[in-house]
Amino acid sequence: MAQCQARKHDAKAELNRRSQVCETLAGTGVRVAKMEIIVVVGFLKKRNNPAMTIPAELVQRLATAKSVTVLTGAGVSAESGVPTFRDAQTGLWEKYSPEELATPRAFRRNPRLVWEWYDWRRKLVAGAKPNPAHFALVEMEGLFLRFHLITQNVDGLHQRAGSRHVIELHGNITRTKCSEEGTIVSSWKDTGDVPPKCPACGGLLRPDVVWFEEPMPEEEMQEAMTASTHCDFFFSIGTSTVVYPAAALPSEAWRSGATVVEINPQPTPLTPQAHFALAGAAGVVLPELVRAIRASRRF
Ligand code: NAD
Repeated sequence: MAQCQARKHDAKAELNRRSQVCETLAGTGVRVAKMEIIVVVGFLKKRNNPAMTIPAELVQRLATAKSVTVLTGAGVSAESGVPTFRDAQTGLWEKYSPEELATPRAFRRNPRLVWEWYDWRRKLVAGAKPNPAHFALVEMEGLFLRFHLITQNVDGLHQRAGSRHVIELHGNITRTKCSEEGTIVSSWKDTGDVPPKCPACGGLLRPDVVWFEEPMPEEEMQEAMTASTHCDFFFSIGTSTVVYPAAALPSEAWRSGATVVEINPQPTPLTPQAHFALAGAAGVVLPELVRAIRASRRF
């Protein structure tokens, strides 16, 4: 009984904290006044029931949607055991910030350190499996006439789950390229060098990912922008929406008239702007959402 009351108290404190965050963001000039904001607080439900109720209005509106675009971030892979950037700074790597490991400058300064960090993450990703969030997104692809999946993730888990066309904004950690020529290199001689050297030109090899301070791949960015500005619904899932230019896509979709839905257990700068903010883990909310859409189509 005492434990139950403590939980209720925790939940109230969490709700207060969330509304304070929203108020603070509203005070920063983020547009909130004219928008409809439906914050579904999954926190209370999650404690007693791992499933979560999807708002009927969202399901109803999705029933007539023809075009859906989804942007995913590191949070979608968190339930597969792939740490988000913040969580990745643990154990061996806790003394380094992402900026010390994921920038061209960091690579020039200490290529061995950067290669070894990516090697650790590459092995982690190889051992990870897609989770219910990845599989729910594969199902969603079949539920709408047009469906675009944009990801900031570099782990390839969407493709391993079965998503057919994934727009990778930040590259893929499983690929390696030459730091001099930019060509993809699939095999090299093991000479003991760390990082290994390009068999063609002798330049240092690096992961084929987009580091902070590097330009985005033009074609993918263009495709992502078109998909975001030409959709009925835009989902922002498991991303902190702070890493630009990807973080601008939800606002572009909103400006173009799309209904914007966020799925994230924590509030983000997007939360006050989203038409629906589903506060929960992607691996719980997305399968529930797919079930609700399927059920609505049976009538
Ligand atoms: P981020 O680390 O900045 O934010 C992760 C977000 O996920 C947070 O808002 C967090 O609240 C949310 N989250 C945590 N668990 C969740 C869950 N179970 N369900 C839903 N949301 C959850 O990551 P980001 O926004 O993707 O941007 C940072 C950059 O990090 C990206 O450029 C990306 O390339 C890179 N990155 C990728 C991977 C990966 O490929 N898996 C991992 C780490 C970082």
